[in-house]
Amino acid sequence: MDTDVLIIGAGPTGLMLANQLARRGVRALIVDRHAGPARETRALGVQARTLEIYARLGVVDQALELGKRATGANLWAQARRTARIPLGDIGRDISPYPYLLILGQDDNERLLGEALRHRGMAVRWNTELVGLAQATDRVQATLRQPDGTQRELSAAWLAGCDGARSAVRELSGIPFEGAPYEHIFFVADTQVTGPMVPGELNVYLWREGFHLFFPMRGADHWRVVGILPEALRGRDDLAFEDVVPAVRREAGVALDFKACAWFSTYRIHHRRARRFRDRRAFLLGDAAHIHSPVGAQGMNTGLQDAYNLAWKLALVIAGRADARLLDSYEDERIPVATRLLDTTDRAFALIVSDAWLAGLLRTRVLARVAAAAMKLAPARRFAFRTISQTGIRYPQSALSETLAGLGGGAPRAGDRFPWLKLKLRADRAPEDLFDALDDTRFSLIVVGQPTPTALPELDDLLRVLAVPDDPANDRALARADIPRPSFYLLRPDGHIGLAGARYDAAAVGRYVAARIGLRTPAD
Ligand SMILES: Cc1cc2nc3c(=O)[nH]c(=O)nc-3n(C[C@H](O)[C@H](O)[C@H](O)COP(=O)(O)OP(=O)(O)OC[C@H]3O[C@@H](n4cnc5c(N)ncnc54)[C@H](O)[C@@H]3O)c2cc1C
Repeated sequence: MDTDVLIIGAGPTGLMLANQLARRGVRALIVDRHAGPARETRALGVQARTLEIYARLGVVDQALELGKRATGANLWAQARRTARIPLGDIGRDISPYPYLLILGQDDNERLLGEALRHRGMAVRWNTELVGLAQATDRVQATLRQPDGTQRELSAAWLAGCDGARSAVRELSGIPFEGAPYEHIFFVADTQVTGPMVPGELNVYLWREGFHLFFPMRGADHWRVVGILPEALRGRDDLAFEDVVPAVRREAGVALDFKACAWFSTYRIHHRRARRFRDRRAFLLGDAAHIHSPVGAQGMNTGLQDAYNLAWKLALVIAGRADARLLDSYEDERIPVATRLLDTTDRAFALIVSDAWLAGLLRTRVLARVAAAAMKLAPARRFAFRTISQTGIRYPQSALSETLAGLGGGAPRAGDRFPWLKLKLRADRAPEDLFDALDDTRFSLIVVGQPTPTALPELDDLLRVLAVPDDPANDRALARADIPRPSFYLLRPDGHIGLAGARYDAAAVGRYVAARIGLRTPAD
């Protein structure tokens, strides 16, 4: 076998998977048909859940330094600012990163690429997957190399992170179901002055659509995204200057465009692969699902597909878990993609609907309703959980089990374990629980009861965190509805696998054997 995992595609998804496998000691190869990293910004929004994963990867400080925190969204209609939605700390108490970070996809890819190089792995550029065959114990890939020759390579597993036109998906005969939207979008990196609120999102709503202005690094640097006016569709020689009059007219405000560094148009599709796996080949990221950019979810969902699959592949390849653990990848990620397609579809339909009533709703009502709703704490929390992807749960997964006796409001199996600040040593100040977790292992969090002594099934794969009795801890636990006594066995990706009240060693043993398919090294 040439490698354990062959990763096709070095976009954000492939780079995240390569990093996660490398830090778990898995032998992997990553190839991409392009000559080098993409230069275009494309996706812009990095969600809190992604930043939490970046923290474990050691790249979050660089990301925060390079990016801009979206402190607010300003809605404009008919030349007036009609509402401001504060976003600065919208997810306070939910995540250490309670905001949306504006950081271009190119910067994200650069950070992930550098992290990969530090781990001793490099992307093989100019290398394209052109053929794929599967045997019971391996995948045989045909790669076109930089000199144009073809080479056969065998891998135990293959990850298709090769984007919307995925060769892995096509060679595996997996249908990509859905359709294109009728609208054509444009995107431009511009230098522009105008009444936009600096450093914040500015959304210009008009009867037939919207224009988004994202603040970028550098003076007067804004990313403008909008719908291409119908009269301009189908032109090959289109330049940003052709779009400017429509942007000015519909925004209704004085905008002085000084330069445009990048302009592109693109048609958006909403599609989902019927399956995310064909035997030894997996689909992740845009290869598995694409949708409208509403809500800045695309790149983030791909990164989290990779985070979901990596720990499972690592355990199976190390011989520590049965291969059926891998079934949970598509069982967990297909529902996430389906829900995402549904919600982005509905939001997108409202935003781009040509109907008169929708136009009125968009320009007059939407802004005020959104601003009023965001004054209410429950609405703010709901919006943040949904958009930041910290609310993604796997309640139906075969890996999720909540034992009887755990109170109704308590976090349940499948949830991402809540972010808390806890005193993990009675003589120390409260610390960030996520920093104390090790995402290359399982974690057992024990509250209000004695610490269990030994867990032979998990031995080196487990970190035990006993939460000391302390008034500060009681307050933090109460805020998250975590009762005393309770215990939570977390998977390496921070989702709760098994949850219960009084610690039950037999239940943990059954859980790891039956649901994770864990094997002791000697098995
Ligand atoms: C113009 C534009 C604007 C966008 N704006 C947003 C946004 O605002 N917010 C958002 O969330 N998302 C946005 N997106 C979507 C976002 O860019 C994608 O969700 C993201 O790139 C997905 O990452 P990925 O790694 O799964 O796929 P990709 O980034 O597409 O990477 C796939 C990689 O696979 C390589 N590859 C393909 N085929 C092969 C092969 N046969 N062999 C070897 N390598 C191969 C490609 O060269 C590429 O590098 C935008 C997309 C576009 C095009």
